[in-house]
Formats: sequence, structure tokens, C-alpha cells
Amino acid sequence: MPDTELTAVPAPYDILFEPVKIGPLTTKNRFYQVPHCNGMGYRDPSAQAAMRRIKAEGGWSVVCTEQVEIHATSDIAPFIELRIWDDQDVPALARIADAIHEGGAIAGIELAHNGMNAPNQLSRETPLGPVHLPVAPDTIAPVQARAMSKQDLADLRRWHRNAVRRSLEAGYDLVYVYGAHGYSTLHHFLSPRYNTRTDEYGGSVLNRMRLLRELLEDTVEEVDGQAAVACRITVDEELGEAGITRGDIEAVLGELGEVPDLWDFAMGSWEADSATSRFEPEGRQEQFVAGLKKLTSTPVVGVGRFTSPDAMVRQVRAGILDLIGAARPSIADPFLPNKIRDGKLATIRECIGCNVCVTGDQTMSPIRCTQNPSMGEEWRRGWHPERVRPKESDARILVVGAGPAGLEAARALGVRGYEVTLVEAARELGGRVTAESRLPGLSAWNRVRDYREAAIGELPNVEVFRESPMSADDVVEFGFQHVIVATGATWRTDGVGRWHTQPIPVAGGAQVLAPDDIFAGRLPEGRHVVVYDDDYYYLGGVIAEQLRSKGYEVSIVTPAAQVSPWTVNTFEVTKIQRRLIEAGVERVTEHALAGVGRGGVVVTDAYTHQTREIEADAVVMVTARLPRDELFLQLDERRELGQLQTVHGVGDCWAPATIAAAVWSGRRAAEEFDAPARPNDEVPFRREVTELAGLDIDVPVPTT
Ligand code: ADP
Ligand code: SF4
Repeated sequence: MPDTELTAVPAPYDILFEPVKIGPLTTKNRFYQVPHCNGMGYRDPSAQAAMRRIKAEGGWSVVCTEQVEIHATSDIAPFIELRIWDDQDVPALARIADAIHEGGAIAGIELAHNGMNAPNQLSRETPLGPVHLPVAPDTIAPVQARAMSKQDLADLRRWHRNAVRRSLEAGYDLVYVYGAHGYSTLHHFLSPRYNTRTDEYGGSVLNRMRLLRELLEDTVEEVDGQAAVACRITVDEELGEAGITRGDIEAVLGELGEVPDLWDFAMGSWEADSATSRFEPEGRQEQFVAGLKKLTSTPVVGVGRFTSPDAMVRQVRAGILDLIGAARPSIADPFLPNKIRDGKLATIRECIGCNVCVTGDQTMSPIRCTQNPSMGEEWRRGWHPERVRPKESDARILVVGAGPAGLEAARALGVRGYEVTLVEAARELGGRVTAESRLPGLSAWNRVRDYREAAIGELPNVEVFRESPMSADDVVEFGFQHVIVATGATWRTDGVGRWHTQPIPVAGGAQVLAPDDIFAGRLPEGRHVVVYDDDYYYLGGVIAEQLRSKGYEVSIVTPAAQVSPWTVNTFEVTKIQRRLIEAGVERVTEHALAGVGRGGVVVTDAYTHQTREIEADAVVMVTARLPRDELFLQLDERRELGQLQTVHGVGDCWAPATIAAAVWSGRRAAEEFDAPARPNDEVPFRREVTELAGLDIDVPVPTT
């Protein structure tokens, strides 16, 4: 496997394998996994430890935790991050540091005080900020932060020092002072948007960086050479003079440039740093970061969804970055550094920039990834991004359908060593991925197919047959005993979805299309099209955008308050509204489609149920899908008749969901093939259960 096979480094990428000195530390290469959230945090520390260890194993020279809340006033519940509130938190953090070391990397910890971004829902402490303001920017809880007094500032410095000391006890080599993304008290103090104080902590940039200077100097003193100190800082808030500007960051580097051992450049919000490929290209941060490195002699790291080694080399050669920072590329492919080292570029699983990983954190669930189904499952299910346990029989397996589910099932079964036949009805592989990646902004999604198609091409034991629709009779005739059915799903046209659970009235002769028609290149006749988004993810908005670009008058109707509301979890919801508005798409929100006539549709107000008509020559329904499961059901009957041994439905043909879920489902089928059958009333994965505090649950009675 690529992790252990040492081959010569291909010359063009030598520069990426040079060591970099970070204070007392020396890295083994320039690959740096920056801190990233993962929805596991304090709830799943062992799962996180295993995930970070695999990154280290894959060649990242530095592997960091996500933000670690330093105090109960920094509580961003309901989000699940790590905590270092007191000594009780040290063992979990030590487990993660140990795992990173076992994998062979430097362990970094990002200490965070969330200040006015922390609603403190769990701790019920008062949020703290530079001035009296409602908590922001990430929560809309009805609580305000209180302007920090001199005593509060002194307390914060002490809490931070305590956290630094505990980080060293837990075994971390690199300790962060965090001042970025709008999440940190240090960001709030640095930004004129939040800091309108009139004392020595507000006003001039020198005053606004005073707290940063204090925490940095405290941290350097506290680590006392036992660890390196990194500072993650917002380089531009993209608010002009109203926020942190280029001038501010240049002043910070001019004053404090030599204080920490490393600068980690970030944007003013997580959303700005982790933009999706639909909206921003690889390396968008360069425009904000270029030129800053020369203001300090310490190394600098930054991100840009870098998956191309050539782009990485350019960042270093052009003097923009010393270390190639990555969160998402390291999630999609934890072995990215080793694959570049070994010259195995074709095996890189490139991030597609979909932000499904972010949705884990945003929904307080363990991280998942469209490209890497083992992400978050390393400890829970024992999955590894590169290895799968060898086959346990000489079974021949047929996989029907080469969408994301079928491709991943065939690939992983092939890696296990089984003889696999993959059949696909269409000429092109990829299923919905191939179809959807032709829509505006989604071309990078093809990487889901490309990685798997290339991997399968390297496996002599996996045969692929295109343009080969399979029937149950074919399967039995060919004598397959084990079948995985991955035949996908079909979009409905009857209006059934979240709002309507029964079909809606459609007049004879009315034009109703499904996304599948749009994928196949069929376009509505007429001028005015209504897109009905009752699906709430990206597709309704994308189809509206596509039709508008072809010159149609487009209205998008949705019962939700925004188009594509679930994309709040992928950081796209605002950008989608802006793009539709700018394109001239009419948004009819908080309305459900009640019926389709010839020349118009009836919509109902979601609250009052009053109806009105909208002119429309055609409707595209983006509501729900039905599994294409006829083959699965027929084969299951044949199995009962003894004509074959096993049949499994995977992906959308089992239950329509995301592309990430389809890939995961294919992987699961491959992982569990030949595994001993387990009753499904067992929990199907390992979990970490909270240890009880003690036997005494009596409520202390106040004494009078
Ligand atoms: P998923 O997301 O679950 O992988 P997709 O819809 O992306 O599902 O892919 C399903 C694939 O299965 C499509 O490429 C489709 O052409 C193919 N397919 C559907 N029915 C058959 C069949 N009977 N024989 C072979 N291929 C099929
Ligand atoms: Fe990249 Fe999507 Fe995976 Fe996140 S979920 S790492 S954006 S492929």
C-alpha cells in the first residue's frame, strides 16, 4: 500500500517534501492539516483520535485538533467541539495527541475563546465580547454578550494560560492562539465591526491588537520552549473599512510578526474559508494572503482546497505559503501527501468541494465525506481510507449500476480481492454524478466517478460492462450467486414530497418535467417555467439557474423561507439566494404548489393557505424520488426460490439520499460482504458511552 512503499520522490514535487522549522519543531514535509471541526469533539474523542491518527499515517507532518473551548464562557453548544475547561478534559485530549504521535505527526491544538460567538447554552455563563452586542455571528440565540471589563480581560488571560498548561500536559507539540473566522474573542477585538471600545483595547489597530499581543506573549512564556506557538489570524474580513482589513493584518505582522513560531492565515468566517466549488475555485485565498509572508521571518500556512500538487508547488515557489494547509483535501484523502511522495497522483481522491463534511459539524453529527466514506468511521466501524480486509471466500459478485454506490461497492470489493462484474445500462459510468456534474457549478463532482473509475481500471479482478442493462433473468442465466443492486432512483413528477404526501392535480396537457428530463437534455417548451423546490437541498436552485441561463423566465416556488434551505449546512444558502436574485429568477418562498394547469400553476401560502395563480408554460418538480428497485425486488424473490444466495440493495435504489450516502452505502456493502451476520437489533457500530460521575445523585440541600 502507498503508506509503506517508499519510492523516490518525483522531482517536480521535491519542494513539498522539504522540512520546515516551526520554533523548536521541524516538520518532515510541507503538508499541514489545519484545525478542522468534525462534529465528534468531546462526545466522540476516541473516534476523533483514530481519524487524526490516519491523517498522520497518510503523511501530514502536522495534524491539529479542531477548536478547543478553553473555558465555560466559550461554550458554543449545540455544536460539538473539543473542550479544555479543566483537568477532566485532559485525558480525552491526550488520547488524540497520542494517536497523532503514533501516526508519526506533530500534534497541534487550537485553543479558542469564542467570546461573543458563544451563546453558552450549556454553561449558562454570560457571553463575553468587546462591547454590549447580541451574540454573533454564528448564532441567533436571544442573548447578548457583555462588554468585557478589565477583570474579565485578566480572567481570560489566566484561562488561556491554564489551557496552554493543560495542552502541554496532554502532550501537544504546537499550541494555537486563535484569532480568526469571527469565532474568537481575539477576532472580535481586532475587528472594528465588533470593537467600538474607547479604552486602550479599542480604536487604533494597535489598541485592537492589544489583547492578541497579550495572549500571544502569555502563551510563548507559558510554553517556555516546550512547544511551538501558532497564531491563526483573519487576514481580511471582506467588509472593507468596516471590518479587519489588509492594513490591519499588515500592522499586526509589523508589530507581532516575530512573536509566534508560525502564522496560520485564515478568512473572516469559516464560510469564506470553506467555500464550495460551486461558488469559488481552488486557491481563492491567494488574493488575500499573497505578500504577507514577507512581513515575518516565521513560516506561514494557509488553505485553498488544494488538491493539485502543481498548485501546491506554485504556492511555495511564489513565496505565498511555506506550508500547504488543508482541511477538506485531507478529509477526502488522508493519504494525499504519501500519494504525492510516491508519485501515485492518479490514486488521489480529490475533494469535490461539496461541503458535506461541514454538514456533519453543522448538524452535530460525526463528520462524513462524499469522496471518503471511511471518514468518521475509522474507530466506529474500523474502516480505513486505503485498506479493506482481504476477501474471505472465492465468491464472484455482480454489481448492477455504476453510480456512486455501485462504483464504490465494486471498487472496495475489488480491493478486497473478489472477482467482481460491474454492469451499467448507460455508456458512461457515474450515474447521477455524471448527470449532475453537467449542471452549472457542479463539474468538480465528477471526481467521485473519476477516482473510482481509475481505481477500478487498476484492478484486474473487476470487469466493467457498459450499455448492459440487466434483468433478473439475465442475472440468473449468467449464474451469479451474489448480487449488489445499485440501480438508483427516479425523480417523481406527481408533486409528492415533503409538503404533499399525495399527488397534486395536474391538468391534461400540462407540461411537467422531472430533473431526470433536464439531465437528459430535454427542455420545456414555452417561455415561463416554474421550478418547484420541495427537496430543500441544492438541486432546485441549480435547475432554476440552468434554465435561466438558457433564457427562460424562471420562478422558483418553495414552501420554505429560502430556496435550498438545507444548504445552510453547506454554507451555500446565502450565495444561492444572491445568485438567483442576480440572475433574475423570481423566488416565491413560503408557498407550496397546489396544482398545475395549462399555462399556469396554483400556489398556496404556507401559513394562510390562501391561493393565487402564477403564469407558467411548464413545471419542473424537484420534490422526491422513488427507488428504482424492481430488479432488487425480483432478485430477492429469486433468492427466496433458491436461485441465488445473496442480494443487497444499496444507495438510492435502497433509499434515495445524498451522493455521500450512496458512496457510503456501497462501501458498507463491500465491507460487510462475507462478514458474520449480526442481528439488526445490535448497535451496528462502536460508540463511546459517557462514564457516570458517581453514585451520589442527591441534589445538595441548601442549609439555612
Ligand atoms: P446511486 O446514487 O445509488 O449510485 P445512481 O442513480 O447514481 O444511483 O446510479 C444508478 C445507475 O444504475 C445508473 O447509472 C443507471 O444507469 C444504472 N442502472 C439502473 N438500472 C440498471 C439495470 N437494470 N442494469 C444496469 N444498470 C442499471
Ligand atoms: Fe471535500 Fe466534499 Fe469530502 Fe468535504 S465532503 S472533504 S468538500 S469531498
